[in-house]
Amino acid sequence: MIISDWPGAIAHIDADCFFAACERLRRPDLAGRPICVLSSQDACIVAKTYDAKAAGITTGMPVWEARKLMPQAVYLQADFRFYGLLSNKLFAILRRFSPQVEAYSIDEGFVDLDGLRGYWRMGYGEIGDAIRRTIHQETGLTVSVGVSVTRTLAKMASEANKPNGLSVVSGRHIAEFLSGQATRDIPGIGARRAALLGKFGLHTALEFSRAPEAQVQRLLGRTGMHLWHELNGQSLFGIQTAPALPGSMARTASLGERSSDIRLVRSHLSHHCFRLGMDMVARGYTARHFSVMLRLGNFEHVTLAEHLPQATQHLNIMQRTATRLLHGLWREGMVVNACGIVATQIAPAGHAQAGLFAPDAGDRETADLPLWQAMQAMRSRFGNSIIRPANSLLRTAPPARQGRRFGYPLFVCR
Ligand SMILES: [Mg+2]
Repeated sequence: MIISDWPGAIAHIDADCFFAACERLRRPDLAGRPICVLSSQDACIVAKTYDAKAAGITTGMPVWEARKLMPQAVYLQADFRFYGLLSNKLFAILRRFSPQVEAYSIDEGFVDLDGLRGYWRMGYGEIGDAIRRTIHQETGLTVSVGVSVTRTLAKMASEANKPNGLSVVSGRHIAEFLSGQATRDIPGIGARRAALLGKFGLHTALEFSRAPEAQVQRLLGRTGMHLWHELNGQSLFGIQTAPALPGSMARTASLGERSSDIRLVRSHLSHHCFRLGMDMVARGYTARHFSVMLRLGNFEHVTLAEHLPQATQHLNIMQRTATRLLHGLWREGMVVNACGIVATQIAPAGHAQAGLFAPDAGDRETADLPLWQAMQAMRSRFGNSIIRPANSLLRTAPPARQGRRFGYPLFVCR
């Protein structure tokens, strides 16, 4: 059990209704109206304001169902690029408070504050509050901040006081805080695990944290043990400043029609390939394994994969690989309604091992990289449709959005 107040200090920052709040920022005319943000295919709700939530709208709910519950709400198509810009701004502010910041999701981050009280000449709670106020002043977004001794406790603390709140749980106040939290409120414990714990009389997070180690181990295994230590103030996870490499990256979409024209499918595939390649260049990743997926008219999926001799982020190599795979999959009379490309074995660029049989590929890659980077810079500044590969032009681009979404450049993040 903890005896010191601050054996470590971690803040968890979580933006309130992030996507909906972003929309509200650029649409002041929507002030006071419930907002629901729709997924890219306009199929379901991906974010909503608190009033929409109160009306029973949940994330993942089909749009038609939400419209029945709340016809007066504003339904907007998601614009992830705009949310990304605001997210960058938010994380730039966090990095001003501590060099150690973990971007946990687009709108959630952990900040290691350990030992920074002297530097900021403030208590940990005051630093947390300064973060909350600064973000609001500089972006207009409200965030909830939890400050505690481990990341699990910090996350629970921010969750406990939403929106626009601050919760500080020092070592000495952990028990008091946990007594007011259900086991269901512990991140990583879902309804089923909470029900299991309930059978053994463990209802509050405090009861869970006081349960004997052996019982926790039997009930929830290693994950449970990790959480148990974290709730007892022993930091196990710390802050991960380097983003973990994704296991895979994919771009897939419906054709918007059924087609048995290979040229049209190739055009769509080329578009997906280009988007994937641009994302890999932007994030500095390479991949070595690519697979192409087709969804057929009877909703069956067919895929074909290829393992390259060398990891790549070279657009031409990816395009050629995708075309080769498409031809390998194609059968006469095939009817396709969706296609996509998936890259796996992702590695940071520059760490690619030279392939024995492709000695010149690395040089070509380095030589062309500035071109891809310039294209990516154009896309992020002027919009994704500013530049497209010529062989993707057969596909009809989705209708342009109504009106101007926002002006550029929006923010300069330093
Ligand atoms: Mg959030």
